Amino acid sequence: MLKEKFAYYSLRDYLKGKYGRRVQKITVSLPFTCPNIDGTKAYGGCTYCFSGTRPAHLSPSVPLKTQIEEGIRRAKERYGRNILFFVYYQSYSNTYGEKDYLKSIYDTALEFDEVVGIDVGTRPDCAPEWVLDLLESYTEKGLEVWIEYGLQSANFKTLRFINRAHGVSDFVDAVLRTKRRNLKVCAHIILGLPFEDKEDMLETGKLLSALSIDGVKIHPLHIIKGTKMAQQYLNGEFKVLTLEEYAERAADIIEILPPNVVIHRLTGEVEEDRLIAPDYCTYKKKSEVIKAINEVLEKRGSYQGCKSAFVR
Ligand code: SF4
Repeated sequence: MLKEKFAYYSLRDYLKGKYGRRVQKITVSLPFTCPNIDGTKAYGGCTYCFSGTRPAHLSPSVPLKTQIEEGIRRAKERYGRNILFFVYYQSYSNTYGEKDYLKSIYDTALEFDEVVGIDVGTRPDCAPEWVLDLLESYTEKGLEVWIEYGLQSANFKTLRFINRAHGVSDFVDAVLRTKRRNLKVCAHIILGLPFEDKEDMLETGKLLSALSIDGVKIHPLHIIKGTKMAQQYLNGEFKVLTLEEYAERAADIIEILPPNVVIHRLTGEVEEDRLIAPDYCTYKKKSEVIKAINEVLEKRGSYQGCKSAFVR
């Protein structure tokens, strides 16, 4: 739960509280695709998507075991040996595959004694019951299991504009079914999507609160070269949020989320040479964004849950 001295309940605090030491995520990349790209749901993908949001330094051609070993080695060099790990299956839709393949990749995490959990990113329309059964089976083997669903917005017109090719109802259905199990749900949302105002963004935060999700990743909309959204942005069809505007909106969301929701992320970043706008969505400026959000909360004298949309 949120400690008084923190303005919000960060993932780092949650993991430290649970495991008593630092827990580092190792992000891995596998040769997945997505039903919004391969034509099963739609073609072309979400209009802001570039390479399934895969960080440039990760390659799906490197064997998974090697990626995990390398991640552990680098983290120990940086943070010392007294740490534990989560394997984070990040790019594209990491539940969109045959059962045997999915089992083999999640099983790989079990080969490492210091791995205490897995974190699986996917779409809400890629979570049939057999996938949830499979994921839940890893909790019986001692792993903590998070499933991350992209929602991005609770406004269906926005979802249609950005070609998400799923509805708000798909997200609600996936969350309700997942929460019946011993699995934790993290939702991804984007603030500053085209034509959304403050009320739209608040409504997205309220939906997450109403569904009692366990965690959230909050990102500012950022425009990546080579995407459909880049063309629209460069044509002047919409603007992106300034750093000040983003910090205000992120603080609004933090205020309405219940205090036990774990904040996994408060910004988003890509390599400078891939970014069109806004200029604060780079690795270099990540701490500046966090600082700006903290300053807004401090100035308002507010904290996570102080305007909680739903009192339990
Ligand atoms: S669901 Fe994810 S991987 Fe698929 S197109 Fe959208 S952002 Fe890209």
